[in-house]
Amino acid sequence: MAVGQVGAPLLDGAALRADFPVFERPTASGRPLAYLDSAASSQKPRAVIEALADAYGHHYANVHRGIYELSVDADSRYEAARTAVARFIGASSPREVVFVRNATEALNLVAASWGGANLGPGDLVLSTEMEHHANLVPWQQVARGTGAGLEYVAITDDGRLDLHDLRARLARGPKLLALAHVSNSLGTINPVAEITRMAHEAGALVVLDAAQSVPHMPVDVTALGVDFAALSGHKMLGPSGIGALWGRRELLDAMPPFLTGGSMITRVTLEGAEWNEVPWKFEAGTPAIAEAMGLAAAIDYLQSIGMDRVRAHERFLFERAWASLEDMPGVRLLGPASPDEHAGVIGFVVDGIHPHDVATILDSEGIAVRAGHHCAQPVMLRYDLPATTRASFYVYNDLDDVERLVDGIRTTQQVFGTA
Ligand code: PMP
Repeated sequence: MAVGQVGAPLLDGAALRADFPVFERPTASGRPLAYLDSAASSQKPRAVIEALADAYGHHYANVHRGIYELSVDADSRYEAARTAVARFIGASSPREVVFVRNATEALNLVAASWGGANLGPGDLVLSTEMEHHANLVPWQQVARGTGAGLEYVAITDDGRLDLHDLRARLARGPKLLALAHVSNSLGTINPVAEITRMAHEAGALVVLDAAQSVPHMPVDVTALGVDFAALSGHKMLGPSGIGALWGRRELLDAMPPFLTGGSMITRVTLEGAEWNEVPWKFEAGTPAIAEAMGLAAAIDYLQSIGMDRVRAHERFLFERAWASLEDMPGVRLLGPASPDEHAGVIGFVVDGIHPHDVATILDSEGIAVRAGHHCAQPVMLRYDLPATTRASFYVYNDLDDVERLVDGIRTTQQVFGTA
């Protein structure tokens, strides 16, 4: 693994880019791709692409069914991937890790299964104003279906959770608090261990949307103390179509199934069925078998770098980008300024220029950023913005990408005559 020099980012982004075939692809601009949209989905290293091809080429059969050699091989690799996820996030057992399609499905599973069984009129669920729609709409649906109340913890002007508001709402005795570890639109890193302590003291379970944290920093669900956590493989260098829900064993054991059908049962008669043990109780039908193996390869790759170094690298890029952009006339940055509270995701607006136009001009320079509401429309409403532009960093980015972003924004202002 390439390490930069003193004063340079901890990782050598250019050397790491050699592991990712996508960077061999020319852009229409004639410049190399500056990929600053990893918060939406990350690129894939050759190790993951090859693991996926190897899984389909040499280890593929359905799992949990066969007794022949190939099926046993597929099964043991699928279960090894579960163990890899469990270790990566500090779960005490792989039995607490349920494979799902993505973080969205993980959050829907908890809302529908736990919420459906435990919520009713008079109960209260808390979410926050900074959530991705994936940690918002499922709770709205379950609140509607069960008659439970749903309230949102407010956010401050600089994009932090308002802990006074949280305390006041916890005093009302909610049964559950659903929050993001890292906001995908603001970049805020929430103080999850502290919030979880507060929530537990108030008797609420904590559901953590870890879609933007697990790929980018060390995350230990046991140390954080949360009760459930959701993640997506495609955001952490892995394949799409695979994600995970982690939950405390006793909670998962007590929850009814989410989807029903094959694999999640032990016995079926025409009158009814008995459920399999966790985690298989929650894995109805044929799962994403090869993709689980690809996710294990992504975890191996990230671990070979070290999550502390991933976080330090992104923090360095964040600090440099923030320092350049905060002084730029006509640029407004979202989220906390402190690098301790801000992940490698920068949402911004350029005065007088629509975020889609900013993203289009940047694209013409070979810089890929996201523009829009980032599936967080309440955040846009909170700051009275129609949309924002968002740049997000990962291991393959370096200072050159930061400089190109800053130059590209300057060019955009010149093109629109707002400079
Ligand atoms: N939560 C957060 C904070 C996210 O950023 C995202 C993806 N943008 C999701 C949940 C949903 O992830 P997925 O689309 O992979 O289900």
